[in-house]
Amino acid sequence: MATGKSTKVPWCHHTFNVVWGCSHVSPGCSRCYAEVWARRTGHDVWGARGERRTFGAKHWAEPLAWNAAARHAGQRRRVFCASMADVFDDHPALPPERARLWPLVEATPWLDWLLLTKRIENVAGMLPWGDSWPGNVWIGTSVENQEWAEKRIPVLLHLPAIVRFVSCEPLIGPVDLRRITARNGACIDCLRGDVIYAGDAPDPRPWRLSVPTLSPAPRLPA
Ligand code: SF4
Repeated sequence: MATGKSTKVPWCHHTFNVVWGCSHVSPGCSRCYAEVWARRTGHDVWGARGERRTFGAKHWAEPLAWNAAARHAGQRRRVFCASMADVFDDHPALPPERARLWPLVEATPWLDWLLLTKRIENVAGMLPWGDSWPGNVWIGTSVENQEWAEKRIPVLLHLPAIVRFVSCEPLIGPVDLRRITARNGACIDCLRGDVIYAGDAPDPRPWRLSVPTLSPAPRLPA
């Protein structure tokens, strides 16, 4: 599909997968819908030593068509990357696929690329842009409980994307986003967007939050 939506993900217009396949990194992975879907469709692509499903030129050309349609419509489109993998997986099949992704991101300025990962600690070392990321790259991390929110969100907040976001699904425990503790002991109120490190001015970059609409319900503060 070249226009409109081509994904069921409600907050994006398209999804793009560099590969299919991943391995578990934290307890939330026990509810990985991608792993279930891969097995159901006959793809044995899970585990650190497992194979990964890669794709050919037709697949890699799709974002160029989405970009052309977005430019023609005069409307930016959001691309969720990835629904069936983690772009920042350190599996040996991933480096050549990431090397194809970064020029594609740069070649599609009408698309906002939402890179979502549980391996947020790998991002800075795997992206090619240093401190000057393209303006169409958003970076997000997925957290499943307070422990992993406190591990991943402070790392996320040091990344220089134009938009940082958090996905809290599927939850396996409560998450209080008013009380994320950074490594320097500073408190971060993610719900209000107040990201304040000791001695720093508030960070003006926008903040996005995705919370589950299905049970188990998030315990958001009143
Ligand atoms: S990191 Fe994401 S894609 Fe990979 S196993 Fe965990 S939940 Fe699934």
